[in-house]
Amino acid sequence: MEKNKTSIKNLTYNQLEKFIAEKGFPKYRTEQIFKAIYTESTDDFDKIKSIPQDLRDLLKKEFLLDSIEITKVRESVDGSIKFLFQLADKSASIEAVYMPWFDEETNEIDRISLCISSMAGCPVECSFCATGTMGLIRNLETAEIIDQLILVERYLKKKVTNIVFMGMGEPLLNYSNVEKSLDNFTHPKAGLLSRRRITLSTVGIANKIEKLSGFHSPVKLAISLHATTNGFRNQIIPLSKNIDLTTLLDAVEYYYRKTKMPITYEYIPFLGMNDTDLDAKRLAKISKRVPSRINLIPFNDISFAGLKGFATSLFPTPKELVVEFGKKIVENGGRVTIRDTFGTDIEAACGQLALSEGK
Ligand code: SAH
Ligand code: SF4
Repeated sequence: MEKNKTSIKNLTYNQLEKFIAEKGFPKYRTEQIFKAIYTESTDDFDKIKSIPQDLRDLLKKEFLLDSIEITKVRESVDGSIKFLFQLADKSASIEAVYMPWFDEETNEIDRISLCISSMAGCPVECSFCATGTMGLIRNLETAEIIDQLILVERYLKKKVTNIVFMGMGEPLLNYSNVEKSLDNFTHPKAGLLSRRRITLSTVGIANKIEKLSGFHSPVKLAISLHATTNGFRNQIIPLSKNIDLTTLLDAVEYYYRKTKMPITYEYIPFLGMNDTDLDAKRLAKISKRVPSRINLIPFNDISFAGLKGFATSLFPTPKELVVEFGKKIVENGGRVTIRDTFGTDIEAACGQLALSEGK
């Protein structure tokens, strides 16, 4: 792969249209190019037969088509597939996880989610997260975010129905590239996904949550809460020292009021740390502020990352106790879901593989 050219997927629809018009081609060509690149996930500019040869030649001269390469594919017994990609500059590997969800009654696939990364590594360094132990390698470009979807669809010859930003990295600390990727993901001419089928998971960058509420295509938010007190949150999420719970929850309320999109709070119960009756009461109160649910997530073992310090005192609350904890939240008026497949659920493990295999 050549590194000196930019990928065409780094351009939004408006940017590509402007480029094409400046080069003397009619604007409607943008629509045809978007269809070929995104809807049909083409792997070659020469295959875009809907546009004339001189425009194909221009695109080839100016742009790369793909920004990443699939280097490893691992299929799990539960139907999920982990993809490892190498970035074009070979600075790092990133990961995406494909997850088919089955309808319990018919056993047919009713949706297919793809968990994608927004960074190689992550600068936030949460103590419970394997990606956090890597530090930040670099932000992903817009094309590198989008290509996780395009390459998976091309490889599997299947359409993904939902995207979750729950892989490596903190999406709101790579704000402009993530926003541009949302612009293309949801663009009607790309024919990919509606904004209601995209969930962005964030550790809680309050000012960027407010900024995203003003984006023309706001998506669903998942907030990695994991604590009901600033004291405990500060111990597991260093960045929360600058963004306290009041600031974060105010920003979430603001987001809901502006977008009317329901909120998910992600919460890992850590044994004896954040799973008390008082935590359940506080969670219920938080979840009543705006339409939302608390998603209880099992703590995935990350001891392979060589943990140090406070991380070594974190243990998962056993499943029976998580169920009890969930009931208490419900008794106090909160809404709860429990990610059930303890141990095998790879959604929670999303982002952990690249560390163990990719570097
Ligand atoms: N940076 C974003 C998105 C990537 S992490 C965020 O923090 O939200 C995606 C989810 O995985 C987050 O909810 C995160 O808290 C969770 N997670 C990280 N490490 C985990 C682990 N060891 N076990 C379970 N969930 C984990
Ligand atoms: Fe980064 Fe999210 Fe992991 Fe924290 S949990 S280190 S924000 S990827």
